Amino acid sequence: ASGDESKLLADLTADQQAAVVHGTGPLLILAAAGSGKTRVITRRVAYLLSQGIRASNILAITFTNKAAGEMRRRVDQLVPGNRVTITTFHSLGARLLRQYADRLKMDPNFTIYDTTDRNKLIKDALDLAGLDNVKFTPDRIGGGISKAKNQLLTPDRFQATSADYFTQVVARIYAIYEKRLRDANAVDFDDLLYLPALALKHDEELRAELDSRYQYILIDEYQDTNHAQYELVRRLARDYDHLCVVGDPDQSIYGWRGSNIRNILDFERDYPEATVITLDRNYRSTPNILAAAGHLIEHNVHRKQKSLLTDNPPGDPVRILTFDTGLDEAELVVERIRREVLDGKARYRDHAIFLRINALSRSLESAFVKHGVPFQIVKGLAFFDRKENRDLLAYLRLLVNPQDDLSFQRVVNEPPRGIGAKSIEHLKAYAEDRQISLLAAAGDVLKIPAIKGKAAAGLRDFHQLMTGLRSWLEQPPDVVIREVIDRSGYRAMLKAGDEDDQERLANIEEMITAAQQFAQEDPTRTLGNFLEQITLASDVDSWDEQQDCVSVMTLHAAKGLEFPIVYMLAMEQGLLPHERSLAKDEEIEEERRLCFVGMTRAMRQLNLCHAKLREFRGQALYTVPSMFLDELPKVPTTIERVDLSGRNAYGAAMDAWRRGGSPAAEGGWDDTGVRGRSSGSPGAGGGGYGSPIRPTPRPVVHSDDDEVQYRPGMIVEHET
Ligand code: ATP
Ligand code: MG
Repeated sequence: ASGDESKLLADLTADQQAAVVHGTGPLLILAAAGSGKTRVITRRVAYLLSQGIRASNILAITFTNKAAGEMRRRVDQLVPGNRVTITTFHSLGARLLRQYADRLKMDPNFTIYDTTDRNKLIKDALDLAGLDNVKFTPDRIGGGISKAKNQLLTPDRFQATSADYFTQVVARIYAIYEKRLRDANAVDFDDLLYLPALALKHDEELRAELDSRYQYILIDEYQDTNHAQYELVRRLARDYDHLCVVGDPDQSIYGWRGSNIRNILDFERDYPEATVITLDRNYRSTPNILAAAGHLIEHNVHRKQKSLLTDNPPGDPVRILTFDTGLDEAELVVERIRREVLDGKARYRDHAIFLRINALSRSLESAFVKHGVPFQIVKGLAFFDRKENRDLLAYLRLLVNPQDDLSFQRVVNEPPRGIGAKSIEHLKAYAEDRQISLLAAAGDVLKIPAIKGKAAAGLRDFHQLMTGLRSWLEQPPDVVIREVIDRSGYRAMLKAGDEDDQERLANIEEMITAAQQFAQEDPTRTLGNFLEQITLASDVDSWDEQQDCVSVMTLHAAKGLEFPIVYMLAMEQGLLPHERSLAKDEEIEEERRLCFVGMTRAMRQLNLCHAKLREFRGQALYTVPSMFLDELPKVPTTIERVDLSGRNAYGAAMDAWRRGGSPAAEGGWDDTGVRGRSSGSPGAGGGGYGSPIRPTPRPVVHSDDDEVQYRPGMIVEHET
């Protein structure tokens, strides 16, 4: 082996090396959490380069942009200056669509609509079809359309297969929605997979070209691919089948969003000549953590048995922590973390807190602030939640893509230009008649007699503004953004406003900075690239692992990551497993896998927390501990139960906990083993909590009102 090669292989086991140096043909690496799958495929990319495979012939696909960035960084360290494509499925799709726009009869300046945009279009389509959008919520219909696209069904084909009434409604809306999307020169997230997959299916020349370009394909987290991704990959790996997929079926957690665990389970059937390598050593966690996680996942009926072994020292037992209330939970966990750091046992950044849903993070936030503990809540939605950011985004989208009617409607009267709803209706009718965009229609406003006075002047001004701005498009993205904020009158409007408006102005100016950084990394990047990056960002992409602070994220976001000390909060029936899963065994199994993913992130210490009383969505309810807590081993050296509730809350256990010791060793904790399904009377023994008036015990029930906006690779709280 050359010097280079031995460097690439030095710190790998024999099995890992075999996977890295595997020659040609399909390769499946089926291995448990923390066994080095991601490490192996990263090394394999570097190894292929070291063997003289051209960077342009290699394609590595990760689950998030964050993971792609991390893999690129590591490959760059090993083989500096390479130009391998390391990306997510959705970014790859967007790139292919732009690159082959001509061939696919698309305009390469298409806008990518997110779920909010999608739902707006669907709502319009429902109105147009005269259907009730209370019963058929845009979310439900959108989910149906998304499923159809994942199955690569066009509106016509979907129509033909739709049997029941709901599916027929979806089919009807799907057709209208598709036309609207195309008219606006827009695509949705599913299109980024659906359109390329269809193109590869119908255009053999294109397929062959891409197949021979991407000769070596490597895919991480393969257990969470959906059907469209599967089809895409199959067609890219036909003539050159050096396809390497890695995954762990026990970590498939996106079934509710269309991922199909069968893709990995059937790999050997699809590629009979595949080499299969398993990695059975875990390098991440302690034996106690692995024993606990392994015991849990064995409760899944539909799984392949596999072992999780490690040579790591046993470490602490996994702790189950019981609190009186969710507030106590937040407070005491944060206090404990602070203690660990003050005592020099760990850094803040060594700690992660996982939640089933983001909405649970509020009480944590105040505990962090109160104790002065630095933290970051990893969720990417905040950006799109702000009206001013969405407005600016709409300006930019419309600038890049003048056909984007949705964005036109959003900003045409923002700041106010005297254009009312009536005028917009007239404009729409005019545009519809002539099959032109709203922006083009605005240019014709003098020919629309129904639009008069201020509104006509406003539309003409808006058209002129957008036409004028187009000449700036060649400039770097940050320059264009500044120009848009100034010329649109948006800056002036906010400047004249109150304090909140000053904050809004600061927010949109942040976009200038972001765009500047984006362009600095690669000066060829355009405004279109910038918009794409913003739209395709997932929650975990916003995570900054360099900062010394505690990370708070959903279990879904935690996939693929690792932390020395992990707390999983609110392990209660209805939350984990999520109440929506309770009716179906397969869905409970997915929740169990989610729990397994969370547990296997922990390297040194794992704390599983639950509270007897939880305030959530404005209600305080008694909880039932998660069934998963009862599915852990009953061995006290593996699992330690620490009760910090009721009379213990002010006893020795709490004192020990507060001092950062092991409460168990100092007594006062409850090791009765299996607990009952419903919690007893909290505060029994007249502990320090007084006697709050408490409702009759019943399980926590969560309603549907969490607004969920799906973006690729993003972490959504539950099925929509
Ligand atoms: P997951 O299923 O959670 O995605 P994974 O199988 O991808 O896990 P990695 O993240 O690649 O596992 O590796 C887990 C940890 O073990 C990492 O910190 C990695 O650096 C380390 N590791 C992997 N292989 C070895 C090895 N041969 N020697 C030492 N450390 C290793
Ligand atoms: Mg991994």
